[in-house]
Formats: sequence, C-alpha cells, structure tokens
Amino acid sequence: MSTSKSIFHPSFKARPWWWEAWTPNNALSQDPPAKTDVVIVGAGYGGLATALELRRNGIDAVVLERGDFGVGASTRNGGMISGGVNLGKGLGGKNQAAEEFARRKAEFLGAGADSLSVIEDIIAREKIECGVIKKGRFVGAWTPRHYDEQAAKIEMFNKYADVGAEMIPRERQREMISSDYYFGGMYARRSGHLHPALYYKGLLEAAHRAGAILCANVEAERTEKVGTGWRVLTAKGPIQAKEVVIATNGYTGDLTPRLKRRVVPVASHIIATEELPMPATELIPELRSIADTKRVLTYYRPSPDGKHMIFGGRARFTAAPPEVSAPVLYQYMIDRFPQLKGIRITHVWTGNVAFALDYMPHMGTDQGLHYLLACNGNGVAMMTYLGTQTAKKIAGGSNAPINPFDGRDFPDNPFYNGDPSWILPLIGAWYRTRDWIDRKRAA
Ligand SMILES: Cc1cc2nc3c(=O)[nH]c(=O)nc-3n(C[C@H](O)[C@H](O)[C@H](O)COP(=O)(O)OP(=O)(O)OC[C@H]3O[C@@H](n4cnc5c(N)ncnc54)[C@H](O)[C@@H]3O)c2cc1C
Repeated sequence: MSTSKSIFHPSFKARPWWWEAWTPNNALSQDPPAKTDVVIVGAGYGGLATALELRRNGIDAVVLERGDFGVGASTRNGGMISGGVNLGKGLGGKNQAAEEFARRKAEFLGAGADSLSVIEDIIAREKIECGVIKKGRFVGAWTPRHYDEQAAKIEMFNKYADVGAEMIPRERQREMISSDYYFGGMYARRSGHLHPALYYKGLLEAAHRAGAILCANVEAERTEKVGTGWRVLTAKGPIQAKEVVIATNGYTGDLTPRLKRRVVPVASHIIATEELPMPATELIPELRSIADTKRVLTYYRPSPDGKHMIFGGRARFTAAPPEVSAPVLYQYMIDRFPQLKGIRITHVWTGNVAFALDYMPHMGTDQGLHYLLACNGNGVAMMTYLGTQTAKKIAGGSNAPINPFDGRDFPDNPFYNGDPSWILPLIGAWYRTRDWIDRKRAA
C-alpha cells in the first residue's frame, strides 16, 4: 500500500485530467419542449453529432442527458483518432462476423477512413480548438507473431483505408518511441490525437448554436410508440417526437433492454502524470500516439502541450478504485519507460466503452428506434461519424443503409442479459494470462 501511495502526487485527483480544461456542466441546458422532430438520448459525441447534423438539415432536435453534459465517455477518453486501423480487431477464426469482414473489407475500411474525415471536417467547420496533433500512431507488437500478423494486414489498410501504414522493425523502433519494449510494430500515418473534453465542448456549443435543445440532468425513462411517432417520458414531462435516437453506448440501460443485451460495457482506465522531467518528444518523438497489440491493451500519448503523459489501458475490465487501477497502469508505463520511474500520478479516472458481440460498430433501427452503439473502444471519430450518418439518414427519409455499419445484424447471445459484471473479471484474468504466456514464449 505504501509503495502504491508514493506514486500519487499530493494534489492527486480521481477525475479526468481533461476536466482541468473543461468540466462537465449544465450551462447550456434548457427545459425539454412538449414536442419536437427527433429526441436523442445521450449527449456524448454520438448524440451531439446527430443533433448538429439534424439542425443543419433544418430538423428540430432535443438531446436528453441524464447527467451533466460530458459525464459519459466523451470527456474521459484518450483522445486518439484514426481512420479504420482498429476495425476488424478482435475478429478471429471462422465465424460469421470475420467472414463478413473479409468479404466487405473495402466498404468497412472505407467507412473507417470517412469517420476521420468527418471529425476533421466538423473540427474545421465549427472552429473547435481541441489541440489536434496528427503525427500518426505506432502500434507496438507484443510478440514477433503479432508483428507478422500486423505486416499481413498492412496492404489491406493502405489499399482500402489509405492509412499510410508501414512496418517498423525493432531496430528502427526508437524512431517511434524511446523504448525497446515492443518487437517492432505498425506505424499508421493518418492518425493522431486531440483533447477530448475540448472537442466535446466545441461539439456541444456547435449543436447549441445550430439550435438543438440540449437538456442536462433529464433522463429518458421510457419510450412509447404513439401512432407513427413516439412519446419519451422524462421527470420533466413527456416529449412527443417523430423519431428517437439511442446514443448511450457504454451506458446503455433499461430504457432499451433489447439494445442493452447487444452491447457489453467495459471499463477503461487512464492515469496522467505530473509535469515530465524531459520534453515528451524525448519519450515519443513528434508527440505521436502509441497503442499495442496486447489483449489487455495499453494506449498512451503526451498531453497536447507535451508536458504530461496520459497513459491508459484496461487495468481492470470493470470500474475500479484508484488504489487498484493506478498502480497497475503505473507499472505498465514504467515497463515501457523505465526513465519515468519516480514520477507521480496527478489524475486517475475511468469510463465505459461498449463492445458489440461481433466487435463492430453499429447503427440502424430496432423496433423503430434508431441507434448508434458499440464503439469497441474507438469512438472519438466513429461515434461522431455514426451520429452524423444517422442524422443524414433521418433527413434523407431513406430506409436504405447509408454506410456498411448501418442495418447489419446486431447480434445478441442467449447467455448474456446485459450485465457482464460477473464475467468481465474472469475474462480480464484470462486475457492477462494469455498475454503473459505469449510474451514468455516470445522471449
Ligand atoms: C478511458 C477511455 C479511453 C478511451 N480512449 C479512446 C481513444 O483514445 N480513442 C477513441 O476513439 N475512443 C476512446 N474511447 C471511447 C470513446 O470515448 C467513446 O467511444 C465515445 O466517447 C462514445 O461516445 P458516445 O456519444 O457514443 O457515448 P458517451 O459519451 O458515453 O455518452 C453516452 C451518454 O448517454 C447518457 N445516457 C445513458 N442513458 C441515458 C438515458 N436513459 N437518458 C439520458 N441520457 C442517458 C450517459 O449519461 C452518457 O453521457 C475511450 C473511452 C474510455 C472510457
């Protein structure tokens, strides 16, 4: 305990480092009206992007957020953005999803590339200052076999998603990261990172400017089908709407039990360090972002000013107190950067991502409700994109799929009731063991 305590800075806080720049609040909140065109449930990137695009098409939109604006994953994440390199991750072996991915990879990867263009367009158009640094991502190989698996995919990524990927062998690894921890890896040029809370703030303000009605601390408690439309019940009264969009991702609950059984909320954790004793470029040249191929992956990047390390990973698969998650992440960080030993943690926090059972992002309609769900750990660009696409679909009045993620089978499993809390610790332990065995074999 005393060892783990010494890693904490005296001013340590159990909340996101990003909230030093912008804290979730309800300043732009309005009361919900009795009637609108579209009610959107959840004010994360997905819900706000939906509202913004609907308003750009002259359609009224009301966003309901059960907490303050920004309490969900959208101000808690690592801020890493990419265009397709994460798609298909987790799909292995012979199953329906893997076969579909192989058959439709051009479409899926093309849409992944579009997701990066969409977020970049919004940031430029709405003049959102959120510290974008686009110097690529290095994905370190945990074992030589992982390196070979990455190398086998590179042509596909470049051909269909134009990610500008190249393999970096171990001898050149220090061009990417001042560490010998990995067995080389893949560098994807068309990637970067941003300040997630400042991007959120900009998106929130853009939706407000565009005329969306944003309601904080208003939970959507029930939806009822009424004629061709909907009634959404809240403690502040019912709202009548033509369409309802569910954008609740890792916080999907009993409002939509059918959707809850299709997403698995998994916790991800991050620490931030006190000011680094050296410029971050000495650790990560050009302030790139870094991830790796471990099953229990880590992802990290310098803060936008290059003074702090923001280091994330699945320290546990469920929410865990700082005394548990911080020492695990700290050790992961020191394993990669022994030169940081002794540096203290100023912030630790957690949030939920949502996995689909087929590891793919999803949008579509279920019994008439629109949804955009399942970021699979990568939703900064993807949920912005799916929100924008959902709005375009509603505006266009079409039932036809608007992108390859739209309207696909959204699988459930008879053994999963929407509460993974009993099984996630077991999966986490199993994954950690597998990582350990793989690495031992590689040594
Ligand atoms: C620690 C961490 C690190 C991550 N790192 C990255 C990264 O580096 N790059 C990346 O691309 N992605 C990352 N992600 C994922 C990314 O943050 C998410 O994919 C993205 O924020 C999801 O946006 P969203 O709008 O779908 O959901 P959220 O932002 O989670 O918003 C959903 C909202 O729905 C609200 N809600 C739920 N039910 C109701 C209801 N009944 N009524 C009203 N409101 C409701 C919740 O309160 C919540 O605010 C990370 C996530 C976490 C947690």
